[in-house]
Amino acid sequence: MAECDNCGRTIGKLESGREWRDHLVCSDCFNRLSPPRQYPTTPQKSETPRIFKWAAWLIVIVVLVFLFDYIGHYYSRQADLQEEEFRLNQH
Ligand SMILES: [Zn+2]
Repeated sequence: MAECDNCGRTIGKLESGREWRDHLVCSDCFNRLSPPRQYPTTPQKSETPRIFKWAAWLIVIVVLVFLFDYIGHYYSRQADLQEEEFRLNQH
């Protein structure tokens, strides 16, 4: 009597064992082991990450613009403070 190589269950006389990658398995295991139907990859799948890439770049650019704006304001404020300090020292 044959046994299923996967679950070890005895394959019944009337039940015909199935071959799965050089292994004799019961029909239950064969269905479980068989990979799900492969669907052809749609071109939409490769389009989506590209949009995300663009969005990521847009975020990076926006962040950089804000960062440079902030740095610019910071340095101009520092210059104003130095100017005021200089003015106060003169008095
Ligand atoms: Zn089995």
